[in-house]
Amino acid sequence: MNAPLPKAPINWIAVFALVFLPIVAIIAIPLYAYHHDFSVSAWVSMFVLLGVSSLGITAGYHRLWAHRAYEATLPLKIILMLMGTFAVQNSILFWASGHRTHHRHVDDIDQDPYSINNGFWYAHIGWMLRNYPAAEANYKNAPDLLKDKVVMFQDKYYVPLVIAVHAAILLPIGWATGDMWGVLLLGGLMRLILSHHVTFFINSLCHMWGKRPYTDENTARDNFWLAIATWGEGYHNYHHIFQYDYRNGVKWWQYDPTKWLIWSCSKLGLAKNLRRIPSFNIKKAELAMKFKYAEQDLAVYGHNVTEDISTVKSRIAQEYDAFSQTLNDWTKLKELEIQAKKASMAEKIHQMDDKLKVEFQLVEQRLAHHRAALNLLVRNLKKNPASN
Ligand SMILES: [Zn+2]
Ligand SMILES: [Zn+2]
Repeated sequence: MNAPLPKAPINWIAVFALVFLPIVAIIAIPLYAYHHDFSVSAWVSMFVLLGVSSLGITAGYHRLWAHRAYEATLPLKIILMLMGTFAVQNSILFWASGHRTHHRHVDDIDQDPYSINNGFWYAHIGWMLRNYPAAEANYKNAPDLLKDKVVMFQDKYYVPLVIAVHAAILLPIGWATGDMWGVLLLGGLMRLILSHHVTFFINSLCHMWGKRPYTDENTARDNFWLAIATWGEGYHNYHHIFQYDYRNGVKWWQYDPTKWLIWSCSKLGLAKNLRRIPSFNIKKAELAMKFKYAEQDLAVYGHNVTEDISTVKSRIAQEYDAFSQTLNDWTKLKELEIQAKKASMAEKIHQMDDKLKVEFQLVEQRLAHHRAALNLLVRNLKKNPASN
């Protein structure tokens, strides 16, 4: 794809965690299974603890600390920090700062720490095995994290914390279930390896497989199957355009357990100020992409059109005009809303809000109508290109 990256010095700690441990697992787990068999509780511990460590990364490292998509109380921060520590993916400070760089320079082969344009292997795991300059720690983009006591405590005592968290979680479970080695091997080792690759898939496959309903300006994809594997992070196309939203699966029916966890924490008073991108902005992005795809379809299928292609073109143009008109209406409404907030006091704002709510609904209905019309147009064009 691109010229091979110049070799950087090997990161031996990463090689130990990401290469040596899996080799140990491949040998030790079948061997133990052959001689002793794993208890059901050891298997259960693996699945439950996979959730614990993965959600520590998705809800904590990623959505809370890297993106500030919501605010957490101190107890929740401590819990998420410990869960994330259990996933062994370096400190919050290093992880979240690097992830901000990924969003800022996404796909850039020199500046995105895990750019997919350097290939699957590099984006998945290779970027960690050597000390490449793109992934070098630089906390200029993380002044907020440098002030966060929980983050800085974890960064300072990272290695002892990793050991302590593993002992505090695995030993009591092993003791209680009477299958210490089973829990250490499945709930400890195997769970750690699975949890690593679950996160790594977000950087590799989520930039390769799936659809791009919101933007095609980067490689990030939306993929339901990857969402299942990654605790909701598979809606990565949405995430790259609206990174501050606490949801990645933004539609209510999309599988995003991390969003459900954060929402539940907010209901329990442990989290607040959950950030949501206004639905209008989301629809706007979606619709703009639909127009773009419609134009691309036209370019492909248009060659087969024997008759009047200008009719189709003008219909799409008309739809686009109607859409732009709706957008203008909405912008005006938004300005009115802002002015009302500045100019007058509570009562007036309340009245205005009520009025706006109704008008927003109308605007949204029109948007839905345009979308349906456009879908129909494209479907007909694909089904029967020559008749258009
Ligand atoms: Zn990404
Ligand atoms: Zn992100």
